[in-house]
Amino acid sequence: MNVHEYQAKEILKAHGVNVPRGEVALTPDEAEAIASKLDCPMYVVKAQIHAGGRGKGGGVKLAKNSEEVRKHAEAILGMQLVTHQTGPNGKRVHKVLIAEASEIEKELYLSIVVDRESSRIVMMGSEEGGVDIEEVAASQPEKILKETIDPAIGLQPFQARKMAYGLNIPGDLVNSAAKLMLGLYDAFVNSDCSLAEINPLAITRTDEKQEVVALDAKLNFDDNALGRHKDIEAMRDRHEEEERELEAKKFGLSYISLDGNIGCMVNGAGLAMATMDLIKLHGGEPANFLDVGGSATTETVSHAFRLILADEQVKAVLVNIFGGIMKCDVIAEGIIEAVKQIDLKVPLVVRLEGTNVELGKQILADSGLNLIAADGLAEAAQKVVEAAREVSE
Ligand code: GDP
Ligand code: MG
Repeated sequence: MNVHEYQAKEILKAHGVNVPRGEVALTPDEAEAIASKLDCPMYVVKAQIHAGGRGKGGGVKLAKNSEEVRKHAEAILGMQLVTHQTGPNGKRVHKVLIAEASEIEKELYLSIVVDRESSRIVMMGSEEGGVDIEEVAASQPEKILKETIDPAIGLQPFQARKMAYGLNIPGDLVNSAAKLMLGLYDAFVNSDCSLAEINPLAITRTDEKQEVVALDAKLNFDDNALGRHKDIEAMRDRHEEEERELEAKKFGLSYISLDGNIGCMVNGAGLAMATMDLIKLHGGEPANFLDVGGSATTETVSHAFRLILADEQVKAVLVNIFGGIMKCDVIAEGIIEAVKQIDLKVPLVVRLEGTNVELGKQILADSGLNLIAADGLAEAAQKVVEAAREVSE
């Protein structure tokens, strides 16, 4: 699960991380009132969406006074913000963070991630902050410093200081930078994060006083641990989650909406990934990832169909089921039942394999429904790509 920047900063602040003063606003009125209350020489108005790159997309604006804050809030609230992380349709902005702005001397990068290779939590830092870190990692990997953390003792102060010196943080700020890093680590562990990222971590100057401060914050949480973090669960923003994805969760389906036009219904995450790969290999684009799980019933299959077809982009559907625990004849009955219930208007390609496969195929053939049967995964992918193309033309 993700949260907004302002929520991430609340969590980080509670763990002793230095963040700028600020509050979230839902309306231009609120934005102006917050600015008046903060009363500082410079403000920053920041769109709150679950995506980075807001600065370049026009979602981060500086303001000199509360009237200017209001003007920027008016422009940003309700806008469809497009960044390199939102996809071409962008995301609608429902909230803005109004914060004290600082004069930035240098932008650094700092994050904590789970490194699967070393099976350890790793802290990463770079002097190349404020920019696309993936690009730095690809083109100048030597500019990323790493500290591997021993889980038994946690991040050690000497490691934090080593990182601070490595990032060329001025000597008299090293201790406060180290404190910030230790706070970030505490927040990461205590909240069961899978990622904690501060980009930029800034060295700022106000009235001849320098500071190290987290100007941006991104936290991702391990969904499996949310059960013990009711406070974080309560931060969930329904606007940010696809309605269909939430609907899917209710029925125990794993559904992720994608940009293509071929709906996929598959059992097992691995098979679902392979199915999507094969659709792409044959020149098509999947409209979704959907794992109906190992014990799907007629009911779950029909919910799955409904979800797939609720996406107006879907031009053809591929059902690819391996009957292991489930038997193919039961799956076939489920498909027929579901198709009858929902009045399917797009071509449906079905590939069944596994226990009672012959019986399953017979049931489908006898159903009188307009299904395209396929033997094997490659053939199924080819047929569904063709079907989608014909419908689109
Ligand atoms: P992102 O683009 O979504 O990652 O949003 P950020 O919070 O990282 O902001 C983008 C950029 O806006 C930063 O890299 C800074 O250059 C600038 N920015 C953000 N906050 C401040 C601030 O308080 N003062 C100044 N001067 N610039 C800021
Ligand atoms: Mg950023």
